[in-house]
Amino acid sequence: MARKLGIGAMAMELMQSLLVEKPATVLYPVERLEPPERFRGRLRYDPESCTLCGLCQRDCPAGVINVVRKRVEREDGTKKLTGHVEFEMDRCIFCGQCAHSCRQGAISFTREFELAQPRRELFMLGGSSVDVDEEGCDSDGDSAP
Ligand code: SF4
Ligand code: SF4
Repeated sequence: MARKLGIGAMAMELMQSLLVEKPATVLYPVERLEPPERFRGRLRYDPESCTLCGLCQRDCPAGVINVVRKRVEREDGTKKLTGHVEFEMDRCIFCGQCAHSCRQGAISFTREFELAQPRRELFMLGGSSVDVDEEGCDSDGDSAP
């Protein structure tokens, strides 16, 4: 049979449970929990490792990545790819596919999760210039696959 408690007794019971039981939440942002090891937070792009192959752009399901590149001839007759990679991170769904597709390990994720920005342009990432010797690039043509 269900117990019938007066309002005072219910308040007392609630107070007791709050004092005894561990809270399910923390007082964020004063207290902070560490995200799990494989958490996908802020995306990190390393232009030093990038070969402008375009696989990340091809595989991103949200159309976040744009690989801009062109093939140019140096004075000595050798060719190189030059360009950059742009990420419109306000559309990113943090699926991790780009990091999985990149053969160079140029894309990874930090565990940083406070990513709010007041303006859309602040979500843009990348843009650093990349130069790759032609033999260092594993894709053909000026446009990314
Ligand atoms: S995490 Fe997913 S959605 Fe975000 S840039 Fe990479 S592939 Fe695109
Ligand atoms: S997949 Fe990696 S190496 Fe290729 S363009 Fe993207 S970041 Fe650069």
